[in-house]
Formats: sequence, structure tokens, C-alpha cells
Amino acid sequence: MRRITLFGATGSVGQSAIDLIARNADAYDVVALTGGRNVTQLAADARRLNADLAVTCYPEYYEELKALLAGTSVAVAAGPDAIVEAATRPVDWALSAIVGAAGLMPGLTALSHGTTLALANKESLVTAGPLLLGRAKDHGATVLPVDSEHSAVFQALVGEDMVAVERVIITASGGAFRDWPVEKLAHATLAEASSHPNWDMGQRITIDSASMFNKAMELIETKEFFGVSPDMIEVLIHRESLIHAMVGFNDGALMAHVGPPDMRHAIGYALHWPDRKALPVERLDLAKIGSLSFEAPDHARYPALALATRVMQEGGLSGAVFNAAKERALDEFIAGEIGFLDMSRVVAATLDKMSSSDGLQNAEITLDNVIETDRLARIRAGEAIGQLG
Ligand code: NAD
Ligand code: MG
Repeated sequence: MRRITLFGATGSVGQSAIDLIARNADAYDVVALTGGRNVTQLAADARRLNADLAVTCYPEYYEELKALLAGTSVAVAAGPDAIVEAATRPVDWALSAIVGAAGLMPGLTALSHGTTLALANKESLVTAGPLLLGRAKDHGATVLPVDSEHSAVFQALVGEDMVAVERVIITASGGAFRDWPVEKLAHATLAEASSHPNWDMGQRITIDSASMFNKAMELIETKEFFGVSPDMIEVLIHRESLIHAMVGFNDGALMAHVGPPDMRHAIGYALHWPDRKALPVERLDLAKIGSLSFEAPDHARYPALALATRVMQEGGLSGAVFNAAKERALDEFIAGEIGFLDMSRVVAATLDKMSSSDGLQNAEITLDNVIETDRLARIRAGEAIGQLG
């Protein structure tokens, strides 16, 4: 039996993973499941999968989770430290599907224990890519991509030599506002930004898809994960979300990964890697689909893309600044405190402030520096929010 742990088990990615695991529950020994406020879901899954441990990141939900699991053999814990403790428990495979920079410590800890980490949590790569991948290398651990574009690139690269790679193209649906007049974007509401044309995902990544911050993060994720230079990475608007990524080789060939917009494919690929096993996803009928469309991204509509280019060029801790400022700006947009277009303004202003005054971009990417940069960037982003005109 394979021992597994799921971080962020109650989220959109976590639930897709549980769907796959529950279909073949006898093959897995579930060690830990972690979640947040949805302790009812967490407890139900912990019972169903007979987990050793269930952890909520919120201490105030401890009693409720404990009551829900009374009479079972599932141990209960709460708080960020308890999630990190869960990451020390030996497993063969762990899914990193927490949303935000909160996924970094559990991911690093799991890698320190040699665990194969299936990484959906792109924020940890954006914030501290070299640290995370360095940790994996030091401990002989493997990081597998779960973001659909990166899984697609990873699959297109099987058996290939990186020296033959000329470019990597990641596709983007264009998000909720792809057809809106640009002038209207400033007034986009939370409800309007929280729906996606093709994918069913958590609220934060859905809003990040509308603003293209999700694709911006994925550009940085591509650079970090595959070690390609920024000028080799392209974004292509592809409304249908059926081609997830393409890899261009030096003989002119493009290897495209085509599949339905269902995260169970990328999660399942990482779960069974290096094997490929049957998965319960739709089989595409391309004749019925008929045609696929491609467009260049409109940079006036999506200022986040240029910010990602800037971060990739600046390097250092600018990814940590970018991610923290984006998380803070997104919190404020969700709270109704700032407008939709203010998010990219806040991130740009935070990058400006920190590169001119705090000089952290060039600092070494150590855990202490990352944590301090993340903390400071949230403060600077708060100041930038206060200065919005
Ligand atoms: P979600 O909001 O649906 O779920 C997030 C999970 O993280 C939940 O289990 C929640 O309880 C937990 N969580 C939230 N805050 C936490 C904290 N501070 N500490 C510990 N746990 C916390 O998010 P999602 O859409 O499943 O996305 C998860 C990650 O996967 C994100 O990094 C996202 O960018 C990435 N991703 C998601 C999709 C998708 O289809 N949803 C696709 C590609 C990548
Ligand atoms: Mg993606």
C-alpha cells in the first residue's frame, strides 16, 4: 500500500485527488489530511479514507473537528505547526494543494523527509522556487507538477533532452473578462470575477484567472520548474482550454498536450507517475469540437503578465514580493476594499517600493529571507493600497 498525505484536502484540487483515491482506496494508506474551516468535509473524508490524522489550519476549529471524529481512530490536530508536523510523517507521496504561501512550509518539510511532492501550490514555487527545488535535490526527493500547464509540459518532455527545447507555450483561457471592454474592467465585481469559463476551481485562483495573475504566476512557475530562460516562455490565449501547453523543439516540432479541463488528469498523472494509468476523465471527441482558437494575449487587458516578466528578469526575492503583494491585494479585492484593476497597481507599486528601498531582490533565497520578504511585502502592499488614488 502506498502511504499518502494530502495538504489542502478540502479544496478544489484536494477533492479531485480524493475522488481518484477513493475509487481505489485499498491501494492507499492515508496518513494525513489537512484542511481549513470546512471541518465537516475534512472529518467525512478522514473517516471514509481511514486517515491516521486530520488537521485544520485554524486552532478555533479544533474542538469541532475533534467532536466530528469522536469514536474513530483518526487523530486530530490544529494550527499551522500541526500541518508542518503532519509533513514530517513518513509517506511515499504527498499532494501540496494548500492555496497561497501557506503551502511553502509543509512542502519544504515533506521534501526534507524525502517525500515525492505533487505540487499544485504554485505560490511556493513563485515565492521560493530555488529553495523548494534545492531542498528536493538535497534530500533526493522528487517534485512533480500538478498545475495543468506544467503537467502538460512535463509530459511533453518525457524522453526529450532539454537542450533541444526552444520554447515553452502555456495556454490561458482568458478568464472571466476576456470579452469585456477594457474600460469596464475597473468596475468588475467580486461575483463577476469569481466565475471561470472552463474550469471549476477555488475562488482565489478563479479571480487570479480573470486578472491573469494566475498565468503570471505560471510563467514564473515554468521558469523555476523547468529551468528555462524567460524569453523562451510564451502565453497563448486558447479559449477552449483543451491544449494545456506546448513544447517547441529545435527541429520545429511542437508537442502539444490535449485533454479535457479536468484536474483529475494532472493529479492522476502525478499520482501514478512514472506509470500512466486509466483515469476517469472525459475522452475528447475532436470532430465534435471542430476547431480550436489561438490569440496573442492583450497586454493592456492583462498587466499582470508584464509584472511576471519583470519578476523573472529581476529574480532573487522578487517572486516572494510579487506573490505576497498579490495575495494581499486579492484579500482586499475579495473584501470589497479595492477595485479589480487596483490589484495589478498594488503589486507593481510594491515591487517598485521594495526594489528601490528594501534592496531584497538581490538577497540570497534562504528561508529566513523569504519569510521576512513575504512579511514586508504584505506591509508595503498595504501602504500601496492606502495610497491608491
Ligand atoms: P481551494 O481554495 O479550493 O482550497 C485550498 C485548500 O487549502 C483548502 O483545503 C483550504 O482549507 C486550505 N487552506 C487555505 N488556507 C490555508 C492555510 N493558511 N493553511 C493551510 N491550509 C490552508 O484552492 P484550490 O483551487 O484547490 O487550489 C489549491 C492550490 O492549487 C493553489 O495553489 C492553486 O493555485 C493550485 N491550483 C489549483 C487548480 C484548480 O483547478 N483548482 C489548478 C491548478 C493549480
Ligand atoms: Mg494552471
